[in-house]
Amino acid sequence: MAKFIKFTIDGEECMAQEGKYVVDAARENGIYIPTLCNVQGIKPKGACRICSVKINGRLMTACTTPVTDGMIIENDHADIQELRKSIIELLFVEGNHLCPSCEKSGSCELQALAYRFEMMVPRFPYFFPLREIDASHPKIIKDHNRCILCKRCIRVIKDKDGKNIFAFRDRGHHTGIYIDPELADNLTDELADKAADICPVGAILKRESGFKTPIGNRKYDQEPIGADVEKINPSNGRKKS
Ligand code: SF4
Repeated sequence: MAKFIKFTIDGEECMAQEGKYVVDAARENGIYIPTLCNVQGIKPKGACRICSVKINGRLMTACTTPVTDGMIIENDHADIQELRKSIIELLFVEGNHLCPSCEKSGSCELQALAYRFEMMVPRFPYFFPLREIDASHPKIIKDHNRCILCKRCIRVIKDKDGKNIFAFRDRGHHTGIYIDPELADNLTDELADKAADICPVGAILKRESGFKTPIGNRKYDQEPIGADVEKINPSNGRKKS
């Protein structure tokens, strides 16, 4: 039988099933912890570090840490919010994220987090790296300028035999996402849609489907990121009106 435990987030008493990851347990209690690499239901990686929280006084990633009884979690803390904002800024300067011309604008989680954290101009110098756009696959376009190396595509997109279609190649700032040439034909239309959808930024785009949803009507044009979680009423799991 599932065991429920109690813990606090920013002093608020919360309850969740033992063993849930902190990020999921927080969500169930109507508390949003931002993430970029995490995908609900997929083994977490703790790659982006944006979900960093203080647990019993120590900085830890909320997506990889299971909640335990009596845990004291700090989420909405000035130092933590500042750390998250600086990670977002670093991601912006490390790649080439030209939001006004990006097909993902309005559905991009990085852009949405930048708005949430009120990022204006990053405090770090831009790298302006030279990165390629790879349009060699018949179903998708990969724009390496926008990839934040979150590994979502590697972890989520698998062919019918469970093999990873995407992989990292090269090292350091040359690291990029590539399609295994032997499995390239296994990227069906359905998987291509899923890859474009799971990518938090516009680094994977489905061919011939750009701007289907007009800018202004996109996900984060309607509602800021995290607002759906913060509307959940923890007492009954239903959305607050
Ligand atoms: S292509 Fe997208 S999903 Fe894949 S690692 Fe880069 S940002 Fe993440």
